[in-house]
Amino acid sequence: MHFVDAKGILTGKNGFQGMNIYRGCSHGCIYCDSRSKCYQFTHPFEDIEVKQNAPELLEKALKSKRKKCMIGTGAMSDPYMHCEKELQLTRKCLEIILRYDFGVAIQTKSDLILRDIDLLSEINRNAKCVVQITLTTYDDECCAILEPNVCNTKRRIEVLEAMQERGIPTVVWLTPILPFINDTQENVTAILNECIRTGVKGVIDFGMGLTLREGDREYYYEALDKHFQGMKEKYIKQYGNAYELPSPNAKELTGVFQKICKENGILSTPEGCFDYMQELPEKYKQMSLFD
Ligand code: SF4
Repeated sequence: MHFVDAKGILTGKNGFQGMNIYRGCSHGCIYCDSRSKCYQFTHPFEDIEVKQNAPELLEKALKSKRKKCMIGTGAMSDPYMHCEKELQLTRKCLEIILRYDFGVAIQTKSDLILRDIDLLSEINRNAKCVVQITLTTYDDECCAILEPNVCNTKRRIEVLEAMQERGIPTVVWLTPILPFINDTQENVTAILNECIRTGVKGVIDFGMGLTLREGDREYYYEALDKHFQGMKEKYIKQYGNAYELPSPNAKELTGVFQKICKENGILSTPEGCFDYMQELPEKYKQMSLFD
């Protein structure tokens, strides 16, 4: 871990702003796209870069904003990775978001988010908070291989339950679906059943597959060699060097996914989920009319 003073913290359009407090991640997911070469890391991915001045930058930015909006975090690195336990930068940023009446859409795989549930609940009462949890496999043995340094699916479902109890809306990322590994109807159905039970608002899927590019691919293939004998060769034969690797079962899985979501009133398109996460409640729209 190393510390830097960042120049800015928010990116994106006025209506929705993204924020990454950390760069790199310690959760070790074998398919992680964030470790791809195109992101131009100048340090090892596991040597986390900590933007130590993130709270000050955020406060300055929010203070000067005329219009309230949703702040997204967790797209490129998990805001609740191990070092957050001690550093509490995500927590400090949430306190600022609450103080300045903004909303938050926060994405994680870690149960450390439960530490901040009171704060998330207050943000949700005040503006809006959406908690996004990734669930890729219902099988916790498989989960320990795919996402080795973070809590398992069972525990993440408990996080969803805790959010439901507090009335905090949730969105599940059902991605990636890894060809020949978690791309079964049983897996997708089991995860979706938990989404129904825990009242998840939307589920994000990008076509039941995986993407791989330089940097990410090498890391993934190394993990396949270690845990799934012969699988790398199977991938190379099926997909060559392609960026997109749809599951051979993609069509069937997408059909099941869409049917279950539709029957249960769950948002099932990425656009629908993103629109929901990027929108503040009506009272804020009214307020902006008088700006
Ligand atoms: S939690 Fe996200 S950023 Fe961290 S290793 Fe896993 S996929 Fe990558």
